[in-house]
Amino acid sequence: MSANLTRTTAADLAALLSTGDVSAVEVAQAHLDRIAEVDGDVHAFLHVDAADTLAQARAVDDARAAGTDLHELAGVPIAVKDVVVTRGTPTTAGSRMLEGWIPPYDATLVEKLRAAGLPMLGKTNMDEFAMGSSTEHSGYGPTRNPWDLTRIPGGSGGGSAAALAAFEAPLSIGTDTGGSIRQPAAVTGTVGVKPTYGSVSRYGLVALASSLDQAGPCARTVLDAALLHEVIGGHDPRDSTSLPQPATGYADAARLGASGDLTGVRVGVVKELAGEGYQREVSEAFARSVRELEAAGAEVVEVSCPSFEAALAAYYLILPAEASSNLAKFDGMRFGLRVEPSEGPVTAERVMAATRGQGFGAEVKRRIILGTYALSAGYYDAYYGSAQKVRTLIQRDFAAAYEQVDVLVSPTAPTTAFKLGEKLDDPLAMYLNDVATIPANLAGVPGISVPNGLDDAGLPIGVQVLAPARADDRLYRVGAAIEHHVRSSQGDLLARIPEVHR
Ligand code: GLN
Repeated sequence: MSANLTRTTAADLAALLSTGDVSAVEVAQAHLDRIAEVDGDVHAFLHVDAADTLAQARAVDDARAAGTDLHELAGVPIAVKDVVVTRGTPTTAGSRMLEGWIPPYDATLVEKLRAAGLPMLGKTNMDEFAMGSSTEHSGYGPTRNPWDLTRIPGGSGGGSAAALAAFEAPLSIGTDTGGSIRQPAAVTGTVGVKPTYGSVSRYGLVALASSLDQAGPCARTVLDAALLHEVIGGHDPRDSTSLPQPATGYADAARLGASGDLTGVRVGVVKELAGEGYQREVSEAFARSVRELEAAGAEVVEVSCPSFEAALAAYYLILPAEASSNLAKFDGMRFGLRVEPSEGPVTAERVMAATRGQGFGAEVKRRIILGTYALSAGYYDAYYGSAQKVRTLIQRDFAAAYEQVDVLVSPTAPTTAFKLGEKLDDPLAMYLNDVATIPANLAGVPGISVPNGLDDAGLPIGVQVLAPARADDRLYRVGAAIEHHVRSSQGDLLARIPEVHR
């Protein structure tokens, strides 16, 4: 039973829980057992507290027994990326800087998960402060890809994606500033959604780049992601950029799309997100999914978004600029780590220097230096100012494209999972993983990654669907249709995961 429970979708677990076929404690225990069995190899989790998870599950079972009206997903457990603050549970954002910090409050999305009765399994590993594409920049060691333990699970939310692929959790939460939900989903054969900017509260996220950061749902199916999105979304007065829009209609859209029929849906293939730099099998799988979309009744046209070519360059000015400012609060005084200088006077400035010198990893320091430089007087217009202009051009490219089509499609990531260590010494090669995902963050529009087959080495490939702002429902409709066609032609891909950890 317990092996089956860890392979069951969230929607099916919800059904079993509502009829009383299983209890929330049984479901939680099955996943905790699985974590105990495989996480030594995978290292998806930074923190697990079994007693706490079971207590949350028991509360759901008790409420159900008392006849309380429960949320549809009550009792379905979830893993949460460690960049999301959790009251009473350590939160490090993958950094030694925050080691030992126990937040005194919950992020809004965590409050919503608790109110809906989703027991938290633990906090997932990530690149330090969400900077990276491989989880190798974590201050606590890398996560490994369950498809091949010698390979990366993507990043920065590699832990949240690997936990799903390793059947350690049926649902997880990620954050996506430049691709950190979608790229890990692509390379682990799972589903990840970056919602419209402002549609899931940022209150209680450890901020990376505030104008780009967005939390979102990760799951093994499109419907499960939609169900989770409805739990965490919606307006929050504590986030000044939160949209006044309810998070509804996503699961209905996923159910509609699951028929596979896309008659009348206009789909644009982004010319600039293809070609050089994309692995052969990724391009071939993408071409196949475009044919499947046409066969499903969609009207497919090619669209050009010329400014996307400059998206990566603009992102690597805007992100470090915002990050250098957001990370200034880690000063050795207020949160987590404090290091006193080994010799000489203990002044505030020297404590700050010693703390930041020891607490931050190399990638974080690189970006703080880049951001500080880009914002400095004399360079501001040339770097930050130019990047903001590019951002506007990208927004215009999207607006023009969405006059012609309902959604855009592209490969999610240019390659499948690479080997641990392969790109660690080459920051630019690491940054290039996000060429296809970054434009959506710069424009604030939503995107989903859906599994789209395997490469010649048996590693997962992802396809990305992008929609206009506030039209997240289209991601679920088209995403579910793609999922349906990939399943019809190739079966359940996750069933083919080599059981390195069976
Ligand atoms: N890989 C990208 C970066 O390193 C994306 C990060 C993110 O989305 N948090 O910035």
